[in-house]
Amino acid sequence: YEARRVPEQYRLFEPTMACSREERLLLEKDLYKALENNELFLQYQPQLKLKTKHDFSMEALVRWNHPEKGLIPPGDFIPLAEESGTIVPIGKWVLETACRQTKELQETIGQQVTVAVNLSLRQLYHENFVKVVSSILEETQLPPKSLQLEITESMTMDKNFLLPILHDLKALGVTIALDDFGKGYSSISYLKDLPIDCLKIDREFVNNMSEDEREPLVDLIISMAKHLNLNVVAEGVETMEQFNYLLNSDCDAMQGYLISKPILFETIINNCRCLNKKDLHCDLQSE
Ligand code: C2E
Ligand code: MG
Ligand code: MG
Ligand code: MG
Repeated sequence: YEARRVPEQYRLFEPTMACSREERLLLEKDLYKALENNELFLQYQPQLKLKTKHDFSMEALVRWNHPEKGLIPPGDFIPLAEESGTIVPIGKWVLETACRQTKELQETIGQQVTVAVNLSLRQLYHENFVKVVSSILEETQLPPKSLQLEITESMTMDKNFLLPILHDLKALGVTIALDDFGKGYSSISYLKDLPIDCLKIDREFVNNMSEDEREPLVDLIISMAKHLNLNVVAEGVETMEQFNYLLNSDCDAMQGYLISKPILFETIINNCRCLNKKDLHCDLQSE
């Protein structure tokens, strides 16, 4: 009822929502060709570890360089890919590429590197997803423990379906993270049943933090994660206030523009080539 009183000019009306059905269909068609035409690429966003110094983690994020429209962010095409089913081959390509490049990075710097890859529910519905992951690990020779798979709360709705798949994935030796935690509306009671290793606090919570006042929800999520023996990563860290706040918490790692924006693989590997491995974090941060 509140919404009705909101003046006309405040109504959310994004240009993308005005996008016609025909336009969506065209974009969907383009998306089918995007893979063949090499229009997709990955960027990687480093995470800053607060508790351990000698390992490096990053998240793989897909981008689409559309021949006419230019760079399209995943938020605009992943939903289309999920609807149309293209997410299955795209997701497989992302996994393969992320594993191959991470293996190359490990060889170059002679050090453990972990890569996190986002999953869509539709990928899991596809038969033999576990087999797809295990063949990619075998092909690329990436150690399974170097791969983290990110799921979201919305994917945990159908537990009877999801749990056996997660257990099979864990049996391969990969780890699982629950992404965007706190954004969904599901009950938190399912948390202890999920075979996850890591909780990523959604950036909306991180956004609301200030240095001089504790943010009860962030504190709660971190302490809950610790009670469940989970690693906890804060997403979307943009300011020094947020950084200092988390430094004084039990949070295990931070990810966000303050630490580094998502960057090209070439940038990561070129930096690492001329680096003492101990300086890896610092150099990526100062970029
Ligand atoms: P996500 O998995 O939560 O990834 C983090 C998103 O937050 C990324 O947006 C990243 O660029 C952005 N980000 C990182 N630090 C900051 C910050 O300090 N401030 C702000 N405002 N944003 C920050 P991006 O790359 O646009 O990706 C958006 C979402 O698209 C991802 O959210 C993920 O859910 C999805 N996505 C990306 N790549 C893939 C993929 O390969 N497969 C699937 N299924 N989904 C993907
Ligand atoms: Mg993610
Ligand atoms: Mg995600
Ligand atoms: Mg997230």
